[in-house]
Amino acid sequence: MKQTLTKVREIKLFINGEYVESSENKTFTVKNPATQEVIATVHEATKADVDRACRAARAAFESGPWRMMPVSERSAKIRRMAEIMMERREEIARMEALDVGKPYPIAYEREIPRAAYNLTFFADFMEQQGGETFPMDEEYLNYTRYEPVGVAALITPWNLPLMLTTWKLGPCLAAGNTAVIKPAEHTPMTVSLLGEIAKEAGIPDGVVNVIQGFGANSAGAYMTTHPDVDMVSFTGETTTGKTIMKSAADSLKRVSFELGGKAANIVFEDANLEKAVPTSITAAFMNSGQVCLAGSRILVQRSILDAFVEKFKEAANALKVGDPQDSKTNMGPLVSDEHYQKVSSYLEIAKEEGATLVAGGKRPELPGYLKDGYYLEPTIYVQENPQARICQEEIFGPVVTIIPFDTEEEALEIANDTEYGLNAVVWTDNLQRAHRISHHVRAGTIWVNCWFVRDLRAPFGGMKKSGIGREGGKFSLEFFTESKNICIALK
Ligand code: NAD
Repeated sequence: MKQTLTKVREIKLFINGEYVESSENKTFTVKNPATQEVIATVHEATKADVDRACRAARAAFESGPWRMMPVSERSAKIRRMAEIMMERREEIARMEALDVGKPYPIAYEREIPRAAYNLTFFADFMEQQGGETFPMDEEYLNYTRYEPVGVAALITPWNLPLMLTTWKLGPCLAAGNTAVIKPAEHTPMTVSLLGEIAKEAGIPDGVVNVIQGFGANSAGAYMTTHPDVDMVSFTGETTTGKTIMKSAADSLKRVSFELGGKAANIVFEDANLEKAVPTSITAAFMNSGQVCLAGSRILVQRSILDAFVEKFKEAANALKVGDPQDSKTNMGPLVSDEHYQKVSSYLEIAKEEGATLVAGGKRPELPGYLKDGYYLEPTIYVQENPQARICQEEIFGPVVTIIPFDTEEEALEIANDTEYGLNAVVWTDNLQRAHRISHHVRAGTIWVNCWFVRDLRAPFGGMKKSGIGREGGKFSLEFFTESKNICIALK
């Protein structure tokens, strides 16, 4: 039997520059999704602990040196955080793979470097920022200052824990704010290190606090109502976003939401299938399909339907599903039992709705030591009815639906016929069509003949029920700063 477990980690809270235990000694456990072995005992933040963390962040904001520090000094410390992360890259990538069940090479090659880059990017970006002047006439001069807002609650999901948390923490810190972070209860490991890494980088105590716990009636909810929190930056499910918006309303906190998605991946008959098929496979099954940007609705023009389905099926069946710690693995398990049950329920729904199963639809054959893992084969359906639940609801697993279409108008209609609007993908060699579709699909990001290519200066976020606000470059800074107008009488 292969041993995947090295030790059970104890994960504490990080408040005001030190690791502390849950004030009521409450803990919960986290399992390796590939085996169900317990891998961590996590201290759960009580209301008193959340209060302690928020008060520490408030004190560090009001009286600490952080927001008054020259931007070059602050940025240098944030860059140092990124360096430490990269020095610990292998350890952190192993943890991420263990906690989430994602293949280690993806964590090592892509996510941890990107997490570090999220910090260096915003440290550098902040150093380039200025303000505006508005000379009215000879008598008055107006100018702007971009000042930090205060204390940010950063609440993140389990699919890309460190990458999504640093995507918020980078601009939050660079602008001079302080933070209370809460990762998802399923995946606390890598994010739990951010406090100690910040401290080692010379960031003052209280600026970066990390608490652990659940959402509703727990740590997450306490953060979103806490009077010391000025803003909530949240990534997660659309339904959770609605709840947070309501609870943040009483104290009028500003909110930034990155929510669910159900991206249309539109393949026209003139597409280069040599590129469209492998990229669509990645878009469908990377991280076991647990990606908000996943191309989970594949709209294929009917004239190439058979050819596309054949190639796509062949490529999906070639994916190696297995142990996330094995470097040859392409796809690991789903993150938790609860999520496995949710994703699996769609197999039944697909059957009831009359979808045609093309591939997958069951547990894969795996070595004995993975028998308890939350595994599902890459699963493909063809469904003619775009209104079917598998075409409308975010499954967030390795389950994709191919929807045939005949004309460009029809493709556009199907693409927009969803409550989500995070992103879309278009495959065509026709330049005019690429632009037409890009203009008319109601989604925050459109990728043409590519997927998940990111320039961190560009806006990222969703239309419709996929979010509120944008992240990236100046768009993140808009959220994390107050713009102030100063008007000087010159005479
Ligand atoms: P989730 O909404 O269940 O949980 C996300 C976080 O919110 C967790 O830390 C959770 O503990 C916390 N939370 C839950 N209820 C809360 C409450 N009432 N108050 C405060 N905090 C609360 O989401 P998830 O299942 O962890 O993640 C999957 C979802 O995230 C999918 O819908 C996916 O599309 C979305 N997502 C979106 C993006 C994006 O950029 N748009 C990126 C990644 C994931």
